Amino acid sequence: MAKGEKTLTTAFGISVGDDQNSLTAGARGPVLMQDVHLLEKLAHFDRERIPERVVHAKGAGAYGYFEVTADVTKFTKAKFLSEIGKKTEVFARFSTVGGERGSADAARDPRGFAVKFYTEEGNYDFVGNNTPVFFIRDPLKFPDFIHTQKRNPATNLPDPNMFWDFLSLTPESIHQVTILFSDRGTPATYRNMNGYSSHTYKWYNDKGEYFWVQYHFKTDQGIKNLTRGEARRIAGEDPDHATRDLHEAIEQGDYRSWTLEMQILTPEKAKDFPWDIFDITKVWPHKEVPPIKVGKLVLNRNPENYFSEVEQSAFCPGNVVPGIAISPDKMLQARVFSYHDTHVHRLGPNYHLIPVNAPKNAPEKSYQRDGFMRVDANGGGGPNYWPNSFGGPEPDADSLEPPFEVSGDAARYPYTHPNDDFVQPGNLYRHVMTDSDRDNLIGNIVDHLGKALKRIQLRQTALFYKADPDYGLRVAKGLGLDSKEVERLAGMSQEERARETSA
Ligand code: NDP
Repeated sequence: MAKGEKTLTTAFGISVGDDQNSLTAGARGPVLMQDVHLLEKLAHFDRERIPERVVHAKGAGAYGYFEVTADVTKFTKAKFLSEIGKKTEVFARFSTVGGERGSADAARDPRGFAVKFYTEEGNYDFVGNNTPVFFIRDPLKFPDFIHTQKRNPATNLPDPNMFWDFLSLTPESIHQVTILFSDRGTPATYRNMNGYSSHTYKWYNDKGEYFWVQYHFKTDQGIKNLTRGEARRIAGEDPDHATRDLHEAIEQGDYRSWTLEMQILTPEKAKDFPWDIFDITKVWPHKEVPPIKVGKLVLNRNPENYFSEVEQSAFCPGNVVPGIAISPDKMLQARVFSYHDTHVHRLGPNYHLIPVNAPKNAPEKSYQRDGFMRVDANGGGGPNYWPNSFGGPEPDADSLEPPFEVSGDAARYPYTHPNDDFVQPGNLYRHVMTDSDRDNLIGNIVDHLGKALKRIQLRQTALFYKADPDYGLRVAKGLGLDSKEVERLAGMSQEERARETSA
């Protein structure tokens, strides 16, 4: 066949005459080095895998749009939020956290909930989770925490002792642990879960007034979770069930949507707010800051190629547009570094040129040049430095965040706040959960914690007791622990408890 539209080519567009038989010296002879098609094919195949994300490795994604449904211009000057009815194209990626790229979608794990807004002021990345809180509030603890959720370095197996040893020595994790071990830790599908910013962010308007905000993407499909038994069965029968659900629903025109609700707090109210608004282990009670509806997120288009568009998608919470800014939350400050850093490692310094990541509605105009895989015009013949007098792009002071005050002595401060870490998980257990939620929570904990050493079980159960005595006593009963011993440990300081329960 003559070279035509369908002719197979090498990576460099040269027609391939035979893709079944390697070039050999004689019918049974060795392969010749000059078979450049074979060499190219093998060399490319050898490099097909890129480093998987250390966290959030298994994911699924889809395109769609965000539509503004309320006037929020008094809170933010972000242009994509400037008008009721305004629509912005988005790409969203959902994921589990701890498992590898091939792990089961039904794992008990928080779920990542990331949305890239292709705004006219550049890409805005919302990088949240399906839980409103997190396990730790200081980024120095993050690598250790993740190690304990992964595999034991000796056995290469998930290890309940590592998992619970760290958590029981990290009492601020109790709120997130309670959510994770409720059935919300195993959402039925990606469409049946909410997405929360978890962190506090800042919004500011065109007068320079600012507000502290938290995002809640509430599922329009309703919260639906799997029980422990269902999750186990599905993980075995269809490890990709949530990926499949997202893809198939969109193929069938059954689009998934979420309503964005915002909690918005004035700086005055923040001053005597009962909770530390920069502590990611806490929520803002709805009674104190009622959420207001702001917009709708709809996912309606599947990617055409998983690797190109989902695996190579890259989000960073530091990508905020004018009108939105990061807060002093220490975890958020570290994520602003770590996400970009991981993508540079995973995809290279020019990952912003990959179409799914490119700021398609506000093209890049920077002085960054060169590097691996610089596949655009690389600034052409224009100046590659600033300032210049050759008409290159210029900074625009209008896009600056208004100045904000910071003060204090530089030190490593231990966390102190009058409201302790046990009140909110206690409220969740006592006031929000139903009887069956509580039954499932206890069952899920007993099933998992029961595989850890007795001394670690005791230490962790004392934390449940501190959140609510009934909670602790029910876990103790399920594990066959001495309830008096749990009560005694719960009455100790964290340091004493750690000492008493160490090897
Ligand atoms: P509210 O009664 O006003 O809010 C409770 C919220 O908890 C609900 O609106 C719902 O949030 C969420 N929820 C409902 N069932 C469960 C469940 N089984 N597991 C986890 N979350 C559930 O009380 P508060 O605002 O005072 O919060 C009380 C506790 O509720 C908090 O300590 C926190 O643990 C939990 N919570 C609070 C959220 C908040 O932003 N205030 C958000 C989520 C949980 P949603 O509508 O977002 O699903």
